[in-house]
Amino acid sequence: MSEVLNVEEIFGQNVFTMGKMKERLPKNVYKEVKSVMNNGGELSLEAADVVAKAMKDWAVENGATHYTHWFQPLTGITAEKHDSFVTHPDSEGKMLMEFSGKELIKGEPDASSFPSGGLRATFEARGYTAWDITSPAFLKEDATGVILCIPTAFCSYKGEALDKKTPLLRSMEAVSEQALRIVRLFGNTEATKVVASVGPEQEYFLVDREKYLKRPDLIFAGRTLFGAPAPKGQELEDHYFGTIRERIGAYMKDLNVELWKLGVTAKTQHNEVAPAQHELAPIYETANIAVDHNQLVMETMKKVAGRHGLTCLLHEKPFAGVNGSGKHNNWSLGTDNGVNLLDPGDTPNENIQFLLVLACIIKAVDTHADLLRQSASDVGNDHRLGANEAPPAIISIFLGEQLEDVVKQLVETGEAAHVLQGGKLVTGVSTLPDFTKDATDRNRTSPFAFTGNKFEFRMVGSADSIASPNTTLNAIVAEAFCEAADILEKADDFDLAVHDLIKEYLTEHQRIIFNGNGYSDEWVVEAERRGLPNIKSMIEAVDTLTTDKAVKLFEKFGIFTKAELESREEVLYETYAKTINIEALTMIDMASKQLIPSTVKYSKSLADTVIAVKEAGADTSVQSELLSKVSEKLAAMKAALSKLEEAEEQAGAISNAKEQAFYYKDVVKAAMEDLRTPADELEMIVDKEVWPIPTYGDLIFEV
Ligand code: ADP
Ligand code: MG
Repeated sequence: MSEVLNVEEIFGQNVFTMGKMKERLPKNVYKEVKSVMNNGGELSLEAADVVAKAMKDWAVENGATHYTHWFQPLTGITAEKHDSFVTHPDSEGKMLMEFSGKELIKGEPDASSFPSGGLRATFEARGYTAWDITSPAFLKEDATGVILCIPTAFCSYKGEALDKKTPLLRSMEAVSEQALRIVRLFGNTEATKVVASVGPEQEYFLVDREKYLKRPDLIFAGRTLFGAPAPKGQELEDHYFGTIRERIGAYMKDLNVELWKLGVTAKTQHNEVAPAQHELAPIYETANIAVDHNQLVMETMKKVAGRHGLTCLLHEKPFAGVNGSGKHNNWSLGTDNGVNLLDPGDTPNENIQFLLVLACIIKAVDTHADLLRQSASDVGNDHRLGANEAPPAIISIFLGEQLEDVVKQLVETGEAAHVLQGGKLVTGVSTLPDFTKDATDRNRTSPFAFTGNKFEFRMVGSADSIASPNTTLNAIVAEAFCEAADILEKADDFDLAVHDLIKEYLTEHQRIIFNGNGYSDEWVVEAERRGLPNIKSMIEAVDTLTTDKAVKLFEKFGIFTKAELESREEVLYETYAKTINIEALTMIDMASKQLIPSTVKYSKSLADTVIAVKEAGADTSVQSELLSKVSEKLAAMKAALSKLEEAEEQAGAISNAKEQAFYYKDVVKAAMEDLRTPADELEMIVDKEVWPIPTYGDLIFEV
């Protein structure tokens, strides 16, 4: 028998939970903390000192030597700078570990090297980190030792957001405020806030670390830049939900333990569609905590992999020709008195509220489809969205048969008189039948699907932070709620007004609803006919951030200023250019130093063979043919390499960020493809003993 794992005991072991605070803090301080968490405001410095001391004592008891303000700059990952609790020794050389309230609440890391898109000139290098009291502090435990991590937001001296957390927190407040107005209209006087909940399903690949280390492309770019397909791919569909092999299982077990200790509710695990691909989903939680935890999940996945001689690849498309990885972002809104606004519910009264909420979301998604698309884009995701893979780049909503039918009735007659599958009719103002959850089959091709009591946004990339998609969702829905509340709060006849409004919204925005196959070519044509945006790449989505409509939305709810949006655009273009540049340089490096030299050697051995065989008086036709084929492809590879080098040089000379990004997309990427083709063809004919890098077969079938 293996050692019994006490999950209840280890869960949250490394988190400074509310429970621990309650235990360790004086009652009045604990109360103050709770009040700030629930109602906002600032902790007094006296209280902060007490909290800091309790936090430090707990951390030190658990082996911590350092603390860090843990934040999420625009790099998409997290950042930390460790400070030890060490203080100046007294005259006798005795040192006491200390941590003050000031240090807990605010930090001033030198931030000059983080992307800011021009928001902060280098002479104003300071960025400020501020404690996000609503996300618990935790201990990171690894070879570095034990570090107390304090989740923070990261801003400039003038308070401009330099991170992904600040706008997210702002958007959560906005959607809460506006959603409260909606539930008040339906008589809910108890709720004091509405919380956005998020459950992200994280996909990832695992490869053998030894083999990974032989692939510069995996090391530098996180994806293979060369590689012929293996004889077998995912066509047998034998990996999806397949039995988990021991080596992978041992990894998953360790990963779960690490995550549980961090208070992450790792819940499901399974093999995904592609060979060597897997998924982990936690239980949903408040959006900002879910965002923090997803970062921890990604980080822990990588860390634990190393301990098992594995490497975790989070890139959206590590291998051409097999499925890439995404992150289904499940999102819903719930009041603090327990009502999920996306739950169809079982009384007609609640159903009207649900219908209004649904109509608002449909309106929001249709109005801002471009922004949603943008929020889910990153460099790696370009290989998925709109590139023959799940899901398409066109935003549409899947409601399921039953709900779609209800919407259709409402649009046509203003009443939902009946429900599919013989549901009961309830009369009144646009009354609604009781929906069974998951009433209809799932539609895996939809980028934005209603799944019972939540929406599942399936476009998000596996390596990306989920902060932007949730910020955008909260923002656009806040706007729709606000517009609805503005009308309904003034209505003389509420029932009639809400009825009319639902009908109006659904009628105007029904074009965004699509229940068919999102992967089909017909849908592309149909979507165009409906006037839905089809934004094909990340950088084509960038300027959706600063359209009048977007600026109005984000400024109205205080989520982004125009300057912040412009800075983000700049960062996105730069990130794109830098990423493709690294990929191109890696290809040049691999082709020049590995693939071409190996092929040259191989062709020399072929030539030697031809001579020797000829001398021996035998037929050399096979060897000669192979030799000329190899020489021909070698020449093609060399020519393509020169072209790529040229394109790189041109790209480097462009100073405008946007222009440069587009040059990378249109010219450099094409040159990269052209280099890959002869290389992959060569891989198929060159002796495996000679080929210098592990193949797709080695990488994804021999883990
Ligand atoms: P599936 O693969 O069938 O979509 P999973 O169990 O893998 O389902 O993931 C579903 C995710 O949705 C989980 O993270 C779950 O906690 C989350 N979820 C469930 N209900 C809600 C909700 N009301 N709001 C947000 N997320 C939710
Ligand atoms: Mg799912």
